[in-house]
Amino acid sequence: MATTKTGRTFFALGTINTIQAFGKDSERAADAAVDRVLQIHGRMSAFLKGSDIFYLNAAAGIKAVQVHPDTMSLLLLAAKYARITKGAFDITLHPLSLLWSVGKRGDFIPSKGHIKKALGLTGIKDLIINPEDSSARLSRPGQSVDLGGIAKGYAGDEVKRILLKHGIQNALVNLGGNIVALGANPKEKPWRVGIQNPLRTRGESLMTLSIKNRSLVTSGMGERFFLKDGRFFHHILDPKTGTPAQNGLLSVTVASPSGADADALATALFVLGPEKGLPLLSKIFQGFPDEARPEVLFIKEDQSVPATPNLSHPAFKLTEEL
Ligand code: AMP
Ligand code: MG
Repeated sequence: MATTKTGRTFFALGTINTIQAFGKDSERAADAAVDRVLQIHGRMSAFLKGSDIFYLNAAAGIKAVQVHPDTMSLLLLAAKYARITKGAFDITLHPLSLLWSVGKRGDFIPSKGHIKKALGLTGIKDLIINPEDSSARLSRPGQSVDLGGIAKGYAGDEVKRILLKHGIQNALVNLGGNIVALGANPKEKPWRVGIQNPLRTRGESLMTLSIKNRSLVTSGMGERFFLKDGRFFHHILDPKTGTPAQNGLLSVTVASPSGADADALATALFVLGPEKGLPLLSKIFQGFPDEARPEVLFIKEDQSVPATPNLSHPAFKLTEEL
């Protein structure tokens, strides 16, 4: 393996991101990858004045807005995941996310009335996407979307594409917990990635997975949650109730060749839980070859770890037990 190593740490997509790339052209490759993530942030952030999503939300109930092909492809993918997860993944939950603002308002719990009102503003059928003229529209005033559940995965896929384009074959990318492992580590072994114990301080791994040419995405309480009256409140919302999904889960990790798929699935599976999520997953990916099938690991509050049977696949190997 070439010895040149380049590292970048930067803030985008609401999180801290790192890129480690190995190889001759790694400096230029890493710079191009950082630029691309910033570009995606500039188009997709719901909070950035001037982004496609900002304009889409601002024009809710008024008119359709033009969006960049990047945004268009992610809106289409998000709509597809809403359909195949039977509504568990829903980017129109943004009014509820704003209401809860988990991680920003201490241990604030909104009133039932406010939750009901915000829930009334959600609904993926109200997001009208027109790929013909690259426009999108929200039907009713007050509605809004946010791509926070899928954009980091998409950005990871783009980083991977750009690194490969620059001839980089070995890299480890971490976009706020969305990991892309490309090729091998400097010891020429598969990258080993720790899955954090969601209830412990940063850096404490519950288990370590070896992965090769996969994205590994974890959804869960991470750093944004609070505990009140013995219940965990976090930022992943159940579209049926308008409250943080409560099903005894601490986290869900998905490994897949596509980061965007892994990201959307991890969020949806956190809402669905293993009992509903695992059968749905086998249905969605029925007939897919092993290497295209996502592998999933749930970590439950009772410390059990339901998972897909194929975790023994060499691309996604469990190296340490609980
Ligand atoms: P992730 O960390 O990928 O699971 O994404 C969580 C983020 O996605 C939240 O901070 C919200 O912005 C948004 N979100 C919350 N609940 C959902 C949901 N059920 N479907 C889609 N996006 C969601
Ligand atoms: Mg996600």
